[in-house]
Amino acid sequence: KTQAALDHIKSKIREIKDWPKTGVTFRDVCPLFEDPKAFHEAVDFLRDRYSSVQFDIVAGVEARGFVIGSALAYSLGKGFLPLRKEGKLPGPNLSKTYELEYGSSTLEVQNFSSRKGLRVVVVDDLLAKGGTLEAACFLIESCGGTVVEASVLVELSTLGGREVLKGRGWKTFSLLQYD
Ligand code: AMP
Repeated sequence: KTQAALDHIKSKIREIKDWPKTGVTFRDVCPLFEDPKAFHEAVDFLRDRYSSVQFDIVAGVEARGFVIGSALAYSLGKGFLPLRKEGKLPGPNLSKTYELEYGSSTLEVQNFSSRKGLRVVVVDDLLAKGGTLEAACFLIESCGGTVVEASVLVELSTLGGREVLKGRGWKTFSLLQYD
């Protein structure tokens, strides 16, 4: 059953060659979100993984991390902390700029109260070179939280994101891996 569910989830991830630029193979999880069965299966895998883990809140990276992260948070009775692109959140915020597979970007987290000791599962759709989740986890720790794990649906294993996060002391979980 587990493998069948994973195969079904994988079948809903679209591959787009040379997008958004030449040399990048984009893995599009939006069809997975659109498919009720695949979406449930994906969130249920994460729910099962974290149901026995002691943590306080799910942080999701804008925008696809919001979809998975909020469903996971809801399913486990936790709150949700958005990590947003620059300029979207009323402050005070903490910001972190990072490099992407295609360009650079800035993430922000609201920082108006202490999050000291908060145990956080950080969620995004996909791990490539790791800059996004590195910035996300950095922000969580900068506002006082502890990263329990960085969690993604898709890991592009050859791009080294897991090693980047490991080098900073953060664990990674991925549901599906691509070379
Ligand atoms: P990175 O910071 O290199 O790990 O890139 C991860 C972030 O960029 C995630 O938020 C993804 O949504 C997006 N991303 C990077 N590369 C891809 C790709 N090949 N396919 C889909 N999304 C990607």
